[in-house]
Order: sequence, then C-alpha cells, then structure tokens
Amino acid sequence: MIIVLKKDLADTEKQEILLALRAEGLPCTEMQPRGGALLVAGSRPGLDVGFLQTMSGVSEVIPDKSVFRLTGREQHPEDTIVKVGSVAIGGERIAVIAGPCAVESREQALTVARAVRRFGGVIFRGGAFKPRSSPYSFQGLGEEGLKILAEIRAETGLPIVSEITSPEQAEIMLKYVDMLQVGARNMQNFELLKCVGRLDRPVMLKRGLSATIEEWLMSAEYILSEGNGQVVICERGIRTYEPYTRNTLDLSAIPVVKKLTHLPIIVDPSHATGMREKVAPMARAAVAAGADGLMIEVHHDPARAVSDGQQSLYPEQFGDLMRDIYVIAPVVGKQVDFHYLEKAKAVSVTERGAGARRSVAIAGEPGVPDHKASLQYFGEELEAVETDSYREVFESVSGEDSDYGLIPLEHSLTGSVHENYDMLIEYDLRIVGEITLRIVHCLVSTPATKLAGVRRVHSEPTVFRHCDRFLETHPEWDRVAAQDVARAARRVKERGEPGDAAITTPEAADLFGLQVLEEGVETNPRNYTRFAVIAKNPIADSPKRKSSIVYQVPDRPGALLETLKIFADNKVNLVKLESRPVAGRPWEYMFYVDLEADVEAADFSPVLEQLITHTDYLKILGSY
Ligand code: PEP
Ligand code: MN
Repeated sequence: MIIVLKKDLADTEKQEILLALRAEGLPCTEMQPRGGALLVAGSRPGLDVGFLQTMSGVSEVIPDKSVFRLTGREQHPEDTIVKVGSVAIGGERIAVIAGPCAVESREQALTVARAVRRFGGVIFRGGAFKPRSSPYSFQGLGEEGLKILAEIRAETGLPIVSEITSPEQAEIMLKYVDMLQVGARNMQNFELLKCVGRLDRPVMLKRGLSATIEEWLMSAEYILSEGNGQVVICERGIRTYEPYTRNTLDLSAIPVVKKLTHLPIIVDPSHATGMREKVAPMARAAVAAGADGLMIEVHHDPARAVSDGQQSLYPEQFGDLMRDIYVIAPVVGKQVDFHYLEKAKAVSVTERGAGARRSVAIAGEPGVPDHKASLQYFGEELEAVETDSYREVFESVSGEDSDYGLIPLEHSLTGSVHENYDMLIEYDLRIVGEITLRIVHCLVSTPATKLAGVRRVHSEPTVFRHCDRFLETHPEWDRVAAQDVARAARRVKERGEPGDAAITTPEAADLFGLQVLEEGVETNPRNYTRFAVIAKNPIADSPKRKSSIVYQVPDRPGALLETLKIFADNKVNLVKLESRPVAGRPWEYMFYVDLEADVEAADFSPVLEQLITHTDYLKILGSY
C-alpha cells in the first residue's frame, strides 16, 4: 500500500507512523517524488488500514488492489443479497436455517421441519449425501433423501438446502433443492467449486476445517468466477489445539469478512461446538457480532439420531433460541421475523390489480427510520411510496394507491405518537403488523465542519427531545426544525454551510455523504420506535398474538375498573394501557389497550361482548 504523507507533517508524526507500521510487522520504504512524501509499505490480506487513516500525519492511504477480484468490496461495495426461494440472506432480516444433520426418514424430517417452521426457521436443512469421517458411518439416503426434502418443501413451504459432495450429483441436486451446500471438507475441492459456479442455484460455502479467511474467500472466488454470484459463506469453526469443543468457532471472522467481501455470512454453531448446550450461547453471540443468519441442527429425538445427535437442539430449545435472537437482532439493526414466509406469500399478490407493484407508503424518503422499518418488515421487494406526512400515508392506503402503510406508534423515550392513534380512529384501516426498531441518532455535517465549528443543528423536533442530554451540553447551538431526519441531512448537504450539522440516522449520513461527528447522541441507547403496519385487510391468515383496541367508558365511578376486571377474569395480559383526551370534549378520555390475544378469534368473542356492554365506544384497531 501507499501512504501519502501530509506536506507539513512534523518529524514526530512521521516517527509515529513508522512505529505503527513496525508494530503491525509491515516493512516500509520512504519515497519523495516531486516534493511530496510517500511511504510504500507492505500489506497483508484483510489488513484494516483504519489505524493509519486516522493518524495526524497521514493524508491518504492507497491500498493494494484486492486479491479478491469478485468477492472483494472494492469492486462491489454494496452487500449482496442471496435469494433462496422467497428468503433473502444478507438483507435486513436474520435468516435461520435449521434441520437435522441427515435426512433419516420422511417422518423424522417432517417432524423436525414442522418444528423448525413453527419456531421461525425459514430454510430447512438436511443431508442426503453425508461426507463422514469414517466410511462405516451412515452415508445418507442419497436421492431418496432428496425426494423427502422436496416433499417437505411442498408441505411446509420451507426452501431446502442440502450438501452436494461431487459434481456427479449436480443434476439430481438441481431437481430437488433450492440451495447447494459445499461442506467444510470440500471447501478446496476446486472441481466441485467450479461445478456449482456453473449452476443456476445459490450456494452455501462452509469454511474448511483449517482454512484461513483468505483461502475460504478464494474458494468463493472460484464459484463467482464461473458466473454464480449467489454465494453465502458459512463459518462453522476451525480446528485448533483446543479439545473441549469439536472445533473453535471463529466469531472474529464475521467483522473481518464483512469488511472484505460483499457476500453474506452465516454461522453454524452446531458443528463449531459439537455440544448441544454450547449451541445457543454461540448462536446469540453470532447474531450480536453481525451474522446475516444461522444454521442450526435440530432433532426431535437426538438420542436416536444417526449423526450429530449430541449437537442437535431439541425443538423447544430451538424455539427458545429464536426468541432470544428476536430480542438481540434489533440491537444490531436487524430483525427476526416470525411471519417471514407467510408474509412473503401474501405480499406476492397485490390487491390493486394486475401490473401494479406491491407497495408500502411511508412518511419521508430513504434515510428515515420508517424506510428501514419497511425494509425489515417486508424485505426489498415492496416499492416504498414516499409521502409528506402520516396523514398522506393513511390517505394513500385508504385510496388504494398503496397496499400497506407504515407509521410510528410509540417512541420508548418520549411515548405515543398521538396523531397516528387519532388517525387510526378516524380512518377505516387496521393494524396488521408491528415492528420495533432501535434508533441510533448521529450528529453529522459536511466534511469541512468540525464539532467546535457547529452553530446550527437541523432535525425533527421529536428527535431533539430524544437527544436532549447531548443538546444540553451545547446550549449555543440553534435548533432548526426539519420535517424528518432525512430532510435535515439533505438540507445540511445542499446548503453546504460550514456551521451546519444535522441529527439523523447513520443511513441518511451514508446516503448524503455526510461525516459522522458523533454517533449515538440519543439520551439513552435503549431507544426504540415501535411502528405499525396498516392496511385494509390482514396480511395473512396466520394466528395473531396481539391486538390493539381503543374504548371509552361511561362517566361514573369504577367504569374503567369494570373493563379491566373483564381482562383479569379472563386471564388476558395487557401490554399497554394509556388514556388520551377526546378531541373537542375537555376532560373526557379514551383508553388505548394492547393485549396479548386475538380479539377477533371466535374464542375471544364472549370477552369482547362483555367489553362492549361495559363501554360507550369500542374500536378494534387490529390483530397481528
Ligand atoms: C453439515 O452441515 O452437515 C456438515 C457436514 O457440516 P461441515 O461440512 O461444516 O462439517
Ligand atoms: Mn452434522
């Protein structure tokens, strides 16, 4: 690499750079072409040059051209999203692949697949050709196993991944599976890599038993160089001197690989640890470290499994793990979606007739959290219809210009978004889904502005309230209101005034090419916004866990208590209760209630009838 030094750098600054290079073990030579000063230094694959870029004497670091011609980020900066049936790996949602090590019988595979589907797995795994260390171990059911897998897809809707161990199997694999797995032992089987590179099917490439990251990506390079760009790489542990686990799970590979390549990375903690009780902790850690998905071995009767029973989770343990990662994912800006497949199926048909693209109306443009929420809820396939206000979102869905709308309902730091609750009463639309997003606010500016030079800060008024502690430390700044955080960023970019800054999302900073002066300026990092998806009709016929209702009670002592007693007597758990003044009728209130039940289900109707008799007004806002 070439390190261009600043013209006026001090000798001490240069010594610091030389020291840093020495500490990294990188040889270097000084050059002085036409008055400038350069250091030509060695490099190594995966070297993060960030430490050099931030040194005071460095003007620019020019890395060597990447050895990863097709898998490297230099040529392809944006993330690749790999589609397996209707499941996207590498997007906003965590894709969980699960199933037994091997397909043993139709009953076994189907029993596990139903559990996988019920608990939120989106792709089913199962080996039909098993590469076993011993030739005397079970080798898999072969084509019979593949036929069982195809039947499982038909019955459960789960796309299928299975391992290919030889180019000769290509034809029959294509007949039955949605994704081809290249196993750890075959990571450097170059004929096999070239073969799957020529097939029109996504590939999951596991890391070899003792492969370096460079060797692993080079194997991916083989597949891409044959024309197949739909590759997911899978970290499954490497062999080290440590015998307490089957392999050593290299979680640090995740951030390394994320920086080097645009390909998605998933983690297989089952083969990495080889022990059931170690699988969930490592799976949780993998999600926290930024993995795009997981591959988990699950078996309903692991004691009798023909292979890898000791590392297979019981279905209920898999369910518990899914709930854990559901909670962890938003912290790292992702989601686990328990209705992924139903939703994908439902949104593939639009209610607006042939030719119309399915769409979701949001207030604002890309860069606002609403846009990220819509991507996480529906995936990339829905067109986002940008509107100017929440009312326009309601209008768009009511007027059938959009199939769905997405609006914020509640901020964890500042409470309900009342205008949207009011419109849920006013319009004849229902809540059909919800999604919670962690919101990170950043102070951003054009590259010319330093923190000390900021005079004005642009943002949405609610966001100023979310960042009040930070803003209190800068009382001299003028706060300028913007309609949303993306417009605030756009304004700073377009005005190009040195004293301007915006508080916005990291996505908007990226989109508008603004520098982040300070990340995480929200008062509390536990800053979440809960969004509702609104539509005319429910998205899918799947069971609903939650409902939102609003009601008004007669003006007499105990009236509210009577309604609450109905919930208590019927063991209905309330997760939100809030009062809200009735517009135009001073000191009269409505109650918003979220409850853990499907209020429109037949078995709830006796409870609903009691509620109706104890209220003056009741509206079901939706079940989801
Ligand atoms: C498997 O996933 O079934 C498997 C054999 O894994 P690995 O190739 O990582 O050992
Ligand atoms: Mn296995």
